[in-house]
Amino acid sequence: MMAPTRDRLNEIFESRDKFLFIAGPCAVEDLNQMEQSARKMTSLGVPVLRSEIFKPRTNPDYFQGVGISGLEILKRVKKETGILVITEVLDIRYLEDVLKVADIIQVGSRNSQNFSLLREVGNIDKPVLIKRGFGNTIDELIQSTRYISREGNDRIMVVERGIRTFEHSVRFTLDVAAIPVLKERLDYPVLVDPSHPAGRRKYVVPLALAATAAGADGLMVEVHPDPPRAKSDSEQQLSFDEFSALVAKVKSLLPLVGKRLL
Ligand code: PEP
Ligand code: MN
Repeated sequence: MMAPTRDRLNEIFESRDKFLFIAGPCAVEDLNQMEQSARKMTSLGVPVLRSEIFKPRTNPDYFQGVGISGLEILKRVKKETGILVITEVLDIRYLEDVLKVADIIQVGSRNSQNFSLLREVGNIDKPVLIKRGFGNTIDELIQSTRYISREGNDRIMVVERGIRTFEHSVRFTLDVAAIPVLKERLDYPVLVDPSHPAGRRKYVVPLALAATAAGADGLMVEVHPDPPRAKSDSEQQLSFDEFSALVAKVKSLLPLVGKRLL
């Protein structure tokens, strides 16, 4: 019998021969969308569902996420499928409530140097996924992880998600070189989010494959049951079929980099 997913997740911290998929919608919209996503991800062997209830949006008029009430949706999908859920915390005041449900706490790109938030998540008993600030150097990201680890939490994953450069053909520039550099300098899993740098669906798969070939320990991918109708980032979210095809391609690359799916 397969170990419970929570124990399985710890394997990503113990050795670098595992590959973790985290996938699901950009944002939680409603129960039906999340149930469909959780079932699909479970059927593909994806252990962690993106379950974002608070969305950091540049434009305050845009969809800001369903908010704390979304925790009920997360509880339901966890109970129904056994999948683990990750969600970003934007405001320390919600951390305690989110911790009752979320299996991994996400610190987003914009909060990568929110030092009081980093100290708070350093004191929790759950893994933390921290994304690189899109204006931050690799060294600054490493210093941010130290704010977490010095409080005692060393279950940290770091994510390269693209940085701001002069290049505007894509949404952000995926820094592929950050993968080997971070792996050399940190003893934490290094994941890549190919969705936000791509900005458009057609670029997501090539970036994901490049990251896998460069030795990433996992991918965090935006996948939606009906991407054109998504309330946020609709242009970059993969359909279920597109994501299934990506999983198959990544699986075939993993032996080349000495990894297997978690
Ligand atoms: C996200 O992954 O939900 C997100 C908001 O991405 P980022 O923080 O990298 O912009
Ligand atoms: Mn998004």
